[in-house]
Amino acid sequence: MGLSFIRTVALALALCLPCCNANAAAETNLRPISLQLIWKHQFQFAGYYAAQEKGYYREAGLDVTFREANPDEDTVEAVLKGQSEFGVGTSDLLLYRARGRPVVVLGVIFQHSPLAIMSLESSGIHNIHQIAGKRVMIEYHAAELFAYLKREGVPITQSRIQFFPHSFGVEELLSGKVDAMSVYITDEPYAISKAGLNYSIFSPRSAGIDFYGDNLFTSESYLQAHPQVVASFREASLRGWEYAMSHPDEMADLIIARFGNRKGKDQLLFEYEQMLPLLRPELVALGYMYPGRWQHIADVYAELGMMQADFQIKDFLYNPDTLHIPIWVYWAAGGVVGFSLLACGVAIYILRINRRLSREIAKRNKVRDGIESVNRSLRIQIEQIQSLQDELREQALHDPLTNLYNRRYFHELLERELAQSEREGKPLSLVMIDIDYFKKINDTYGHQAGDRVLVALAEILTSSTRSGDAAFRFGGEEFVLILPGMDAEIGLGRAESLRKIFAEKAIHTEDGDAKTTLSAGIATYPTHAVDAKRLLRKADKALYAAKEAGRNRTQIAE
Ligand code: GH3
Ligand code: MG
Ligand code: MG
Repeated sequence: MGLSFIRTVALALALCLPCCNANAAAETNLRPISLQLIWKHQFQFAGYYAAQEKGYYREAGLDVTFREANPDEDTVEAVLKGQSEFGVGTSDLLLYRARGRPVVVLGVIFQHSPLAIMSLESSGIHNIHQIAGKRVMIEYHAAELFAYLKREGVPITQSRIQFFPHSFGVEELLSGKVDAMSVYITDEPYAISKAGLNYSIFSPRSAGIDFYGDNLFTSESYLQAHPQVVASFREASLRGWEYAMSHPDEMADLIIARFGNRKGKDQLLFEYEQMLPLLRPELVALGYMYPGRWQHIADVYAELGMMQADFQIKDFLYNPDTLHIPIWVYWAAGGVVGFSLLACGVAIYILRINRRLSREIAKRNKVRDGIESVNRSLRIQIEQIQSLQDELREQALHDPLTNLYNRRYFHELLERELAQSEREGKPLSLVMIDIDYFKKINDTYGHQAGDRVLVALAEILTSSTRSGDAAFRFGGEEFVLILPGMDAEIGLGRAESLRKIFAEKAIHTEDGDAKTTLSAGIATYPTHAVDAKRLLRKADKALYAAKEAGRNRTQIAE
């Protein structure tokens, strides 16, 4: 009887809660809480600033302060220790949970992670394997980068790669103290581009690791003690994110006004632009998370030996629809039980009330169960539709063989990028690529080997893609790169380096090594043409000229 009785009394007290809370919120001061950020103030956290600025937190009865990260502190542990009630974390929250550190993820903001590794051209790191034996500056919570290195077969033991703590800046890379560093593609590449340096970005996505990025989380104990606060904070924060992503200009001004000019407005807006394809606010509701995707992330970590394989994600994921009974209610209920054991008369009296309450609760539960089951099936259907929509849009934009963007998306993006280049008065180069004698590869080694050559070239294009660039499969054995901000000479340099890497690439088949070359044509806005159609024609003509001149060469348009 003991436990179920405590539960019943707890439930009865919990049922009284909402009205108590409403009264309290109305008449008392705001509840002070803090949010532990994972980095310095920047657009990455715009939604939380918006929730504060627009009064959403105040409406929820909360007075929120923000704690910036610092290089010596583990921000997840700071939340677990209670220094902050909430935190922003990466997918490695899963690893904490798997190690018995009780974190609960409340919602996903970045549907795709911006984490990557960056090196300067001068470092000699042109593919991810060349990172072995190098000095790498790495931030906390970059576990997915280790997963990436593991999957690529790069040894990560201290003896082979020297890791240094991250300084939250790029100076160490610029001064040559380190050869590579972890970055958010939304952030550091801006400073390096501004310094006029060429760099490479190595993204886990090129190895098929596509994890969630920034998430909102709390500790299990805080959730149990303050379920209402968690629900209100989460809702107000997501409202803030909706606002921030549709008012970038206002948010950039706000960040500078409140937190100073560590980053100028241009840089904050750059960050916003880079965040759009990672958050995809037009497609995915902010905060949305799909248990299947978390399970997939857990499976990848497990496959790479970074956590146990039988890990259950259920308690790791917050369910806004669960009735969370605060822990103090259980304590209070425990007190009632103790008291009732001492004073039998009171206990009998309580039991009578309890019986009446139970009947009432049973009645309500029946109604609630009915509503919940309808809700549950609706929710499952909405989730399925959302993930289907997500998948369909991805499929519509990607080539299934190489997973590069397809020709349809190329036209869409080129128009957009040209408009932006015109606004900013910057050049833009197109590199049109065609594999030489590809038909011969098919004829000699078979169509499947041909497919593998296409995939190999796509991988080379992806791994040499830098922030802002985009690679497409244009059709058949033709590919194209859009290089915003690059003039023809830089475009030619990039095409040449791809040509050399591809010429070295061999695909092993039963009939020997399939090896061939590529030719490329480069056309630049505004030097060669100012509209998409003519620019493409010029690049195509230059490609044809490179073929005519003997193939395995690159050529700038006339
Ligand atoms: P060139 O040097 O003049 O470019 O010669 P080429 O043989 O590369 O050019 P051609 O256009 O004659 O041949 C292209 C071939 O690409 C013909 C087609 O069968 C093959 N192809 C197109 N798409 C695919 C594909 O998805 N997989 C494979 N394996 N082959 C493809
Ligand atoms: Mg062709
Ligand atoms: Mg060809």
